[in-house]
Amino acid sequence: MPGPQQPVEIREFPRPDLPSGAALLRTLRSEVCGTDVHLWHGRLAGVPYPIIPGHVSSGILESIRGPLKGLDGSTLAEGDRAVFFDVHRTCGECRACTVHRTPTRCPARRVYGITDSAGEGLFGGWSQYIYLEPGVGIARLPDSVSVDDYIGGGCGLLTAVHIRERAALRPGDSVLVQGVGAVGLCAIALCRLAGASTIFAVGDPMSRLALATHMGAEQVFELASTSAEERLQAVRERTHGEGVDVVIEAAGSARAIEEGVTLVRDGGRYVIAGHYTDVGPSTINAHQHINRKHLEIRGCWGSESRHFLEAIAILEAHGDVPWRDIGARTYPLASLNQALDDAEAMRITKALVDPWA
Ligand SMILES: [Zn+2]
Ligand SMILES: [Zn+2]
Repeated sequence: MPGPQQPVEIREFPRPDLPSGAALLRTLRSEVCGTDVHLWHGRLAGVPYPIIPGHVSSGILESIRGPLKGLDGSTLAEGDRAVFFDVHRTCGECRACTVHRTPTRCPARRVYGITDSAGEGLFGGWSQYIYLEPGVGIARLPDSVSVDDYIGGGCGLLTAVHIRERAALRPGDSVLVQGVGAVGLCAIALCRLAGASTIFAVGDPMSRLALATHMGAEQVFELASTSAEERLQAVRERTHGEGVDVVIEAAGSARAIEEGVTLVRDGGRYVIAGHYTDVGPSTINAHQHINRKHLEIRGCWGSESRHFLEAIAILEAHGDVPWRDIGARTYPLASLNQALDDAEAMRITKALVDPWA
């Protein structure tokens, strides 16, 4: 990706020399996520274009220099199917890392596919090989998990694992998820697995809402054909007139926030995870919607290595969830401009990338 608003192009790079503790991953699948569309439009600050996008990816360990241990404690070998945690550096010394224990807010945080210039090496999954520098959190992909299930969940699943933690979800909680992209769909699946009672989903288009139902939503609302009043009434009818215990925002719309604070019950929780870029202010009446309502509002930014390992464990234990259906179509490198177009126009839920196709 040479720069914002420019077509993606294919370039060749030298094969990296591996220092001790590094590995080279032969990419099997990567993905085009909402972040990549934002990167393409230049909506994220401080990105060192040109970059090789693709943060969550999977592959086969082609070569390893020195003994290499996985985050899960296993010893990794050449030929293993492997995945890695895309956040490859945090400083471990700043106040975010040490005092507050919020490493996703470390100013030195570096993420594959986003924060590293292509000039620094193969730090992205839209590439036939990915350089895994020393210290990257690598894990073997369990035999029962296909690469299409892993990437179908992808970064949306990692985010959703963190969201569920932030939501402090309890069995029996009712949940409403705003937005049915990869994050929202994975959040629905995780809430179902965590024992939520009723799960509502709000979004567009109908094809994604159908998938939301497969992931575990009981009642879905198409944004285009229902009004906020209709949604509020329908939700209250099924929640003792109160609203849901937890609302999860994965829509990235300022209007969603204004609606979310009405759909959650008094004393409930609202996790905001969809505002990855600045879409402008939302209007909330602090008296009505927060203070008197005794509402708990929590942001959720990025994910940590424990969420990565939890995501793998969930994929291994719950192969019956149609994770792979989130990945609608697989594109070769030569078609990634089309993939970005399709993702932006919501013609597909998520585009997968096979750099060898
Ligand atoms: Zn730090
Ligand atoms: Zn992503």
